[in-house]
Amino acid sequence: MHKMKILVLNCGSSSLKYQLFDMTGEVVMAKGLVERIGIGGSIVKHTKGEDSTVREHDIQDHAQAIKIVLDLLTGPGTGVIASLSEISAVGHRVVHGGEKHAKSVLISDDVIKGIEECVPLAPLHNPANLMGITAMRKLLPGVHNVAAFDTAFHQTMPQAAYIYGIPFEYYERDRVRRYSFHGTSHDFVSARAAEILGRPLDSLKIVTCHLGNGSSLAAVDCGKSVDASMGMGTSCGVLMGTRCGDVDASVLLHIMEQGVGASELSDIIHKKSGLLGVSGVSSDLRDVEKAADKGDRRAKLACEMLYRSVKKYIASFAAVMGGVDAIVFTAGIGENSDLTRKAVVSGLEFMGAKIDDAKNNGLRGKEAVISADDSKVKVLVVPTNEELLIARDTQRLAK
Ligand code: AMP
Repeated sequence: MHKMKILVLNCGSSSLKYQLFDMTGEVVMAKGLVERIGIGGSIVKHTKGEDSTVREHDIQDHAQAIKIVLDLLTGPGTGVIASLSEISAVGHRVVHGGEKHAKSVLISDDVIKGIEECVPLAPLHNPANLMGITAMRKLLPGVHNVAAFDTAFHQTMPQAAYIYGIPFEYYERDRVRRYSFHGTSHDFVSARAAEILGRPLDSLKIVTCHLGNGSSLAAVDCGKSVDASMGMGTSCGVLMGTRCGDVDASVLLHIMEQGVGASELSDIIHKKSGLLGVSGVSSDLRDVEKAADKGDRRAKLACEMLYRSVKKYIASFAAVMGGVDAIVFTAGIGENSDLTRKAVVSGLEFMGAKIDDAKNNGLRGKEAVISADDSKVKVLVVPTNEELLIARDTQRLAK
């Protein structure tokens, strides 16, 4: 059992990311990315140690992409295992588990049916995840597949956190409620933060800030998510790269009343808003920070909106939990933008959080405690590793 090798797959609508773990020591043996599946000009990037191979293929579907990945994992030069029989189990990132799944599960026909039932809740993602699962079951029959859901960690939220203030029948009939996402990331970094602090997770109140292209915060009380900033979909909460964050429903009605239909509105709130929409510069915070530094007023405004929205969620989640012991930053922005971390935490001294500039400045992509020694609330940077958490769950369930 100690020699388990676990393949982790993350299937997007036209992409596939994979990592093969040797669970002895939890090392990544190989990883890669397949892009442009089914849209022509597909590219496969496979990395083994320091060596990367980039190949162009014409890949029609996820089954073909997975076949190519399996060939790369065993092939001459690119391979890291002698045969596919060395793969003990496969873990799949699945976006939506609805209310059925509060944990990762071993995949059965019944689980597949459940994922299908959640397609209306995640119309872009769940079908792609299902394609990966179906292909894997065919290509490696007899190997266990595990689903790890983005929504699962947040299933511990109390009803008061997840019901919207609209007629209750929308929840009962259409499952309209807050689900929130990035669950594996919030789970991973909150547990890791407790380890770094040397304190039991079940004694800590933590606010986890997953700030990347898509961003969400979670209130993690004693290891359980009790509130989170994303909702039924992924556009709400804090300002994101191209997603709007919290917007008054009346704003959306106003836009629709101007003749904008549902699919165009979806484009506006998911692809044209956020840092990009406000700054007009870019969805990438690095570009926006640079423009702001050069005096671009809208870029500066977009940064300020991001910082303010994160700060507001931290304080409101502290209120929800009746205190906070640690604030954790993760994902692209959280791990790399010292400016964001500084701006978000400054002003939170009233609740006992103070950053140590010497520890924060220039810190990128590394685990660290960045609060001042006398800060009551610990502030940490913890690089997220959703794949590793999926691999661990897969190992545990496949045993
Ligand atoms: P992710 O979706 O987790 O890959 O995060 C992507 C976001 O992280 C983008 O907005 C990037 O601009 C941001 N990011 C990455 N590196 C840095 C950096 N050094 N400074 C500021 N933002 C960064």
